[in-house]
Amino acid sequence: MKILVTGGAGFIGSHLCDGLLADGHQVHIVDNLSTGQEEFIARTAVFHRADIGDPELAGLFQRERFDVMYHLAAQIDVRASVADPVADARTNVLGSLNLLQQCVASGVGRVVFASTGGAIYGDTEHRPTPEDADCRPVSPYGITKLSLEKYLHFYRVQHGLAHTVLRFGNVYGPRQNPHGEAGVVAIFCKRLLAGEPAVINGDGLQSRDYVHVSDVARACRLALAVDREELTCNVGTGVERDVVALFRILRDELAPDTPERFGPAAPGEQRTSCLDIRHTRAVLGWQPEVSFEDGLRATARWFRERQGGRG
Ligand code: NAD
Repeated sequence: MKILVTGGAGFIGSHLCDGLLADGHQVHIVDNLSTGQEEFIARTAVFHRADIGDPELAGLFQRERFDVMYHLAAQIDVRASVADPVADARTNVLGSLNLLQQCVASGVGRVVFASTGGAIYGDTEHRPTPEDADCRPVSPYGITKLSLEKYLHFYRVQHGLAHTVLRFGNVYGPRQNPHGEAGVVAIFCKRLLAGEPAVINGDGLQSRDYVHVSDVARACRLALAVDREELTCNVGTGVERDVVALFRILRDELAPDTPERFGPAAPGEQRTSCLDIRHTRAVLGWQPEVSFEDGLRATARWFRERQGGRG
């Protein structure tokens, strides 16, 4: 297939592109390199440096006639979305709508959208949280992701554009940056390696559903086989982990003598998150394979090797 991956120079997108190319697909990438990195771009992908909001992308869509668009390019920083909801919406809503308009105009068959299970449900007692639970996002980032899901429904009904929504948990792994929903992993690794204090916010018992990027990329690839017009799937592990547990694994791998340090809680931070993945298991035949401990240790080693390589 001929596939467009927006955000293909980013953390999750670059792993996805590597997998799609290995599966034999033709892959194009649209990315403005705002957080993505040139070194992550697969050598055999066709790279277009552009902003997703650029109307001139019409030419690319008309010329290439993609079969599928994976849409991962986004403003991904929850705190930045709180500080500047307008900028967040400009990329995550208006930029995305520009792409969806081009999909319709050029006959793209399906959109696979990177949504968020970590930020869309808000705090809820209903954990692990299934896809049909109420969505009560507490950040502009979560709100724009939910808006896009609603727009996708509109585009399906109005224009027949099929879609798969994948609601990722907190994704960690090699190539991750400190801005994403599992940014704490990158932050702790960098600090531990630098011998700086790694401060745990609040009591450190806030929970997340941490899922390894290789499992997420595999779920994305499996979504190509879906023939439903509309589908929404959680992509997590179904297991809640807290920040203290996460810190201890990274600390043991990178700097075992580092003491635990606690700081003030981040104001307004979501307390809990955990995704029910039974539906995803049934419809995609997917389940996570990388354990929390193995995945974190391997990620810590990646940060160490990278730091070593940079001298
Ligand atoms: P990332 O920042 O590494 O990747 C995003 C990519 O989009 C980057 O390469 C960036 O340069 C590009 N980009 C940003 N704005 C753009 C624009 N206006 N035009 C063109 N390109 C632009 O982040 P990631 O963690 O790989 O996230 C990928 C997707 O997955 C995002 O949509 C994010 O919301 C979603 N997601 C991530 C997580 C997580 O834990 N990392 C969790 C849930 C959902």
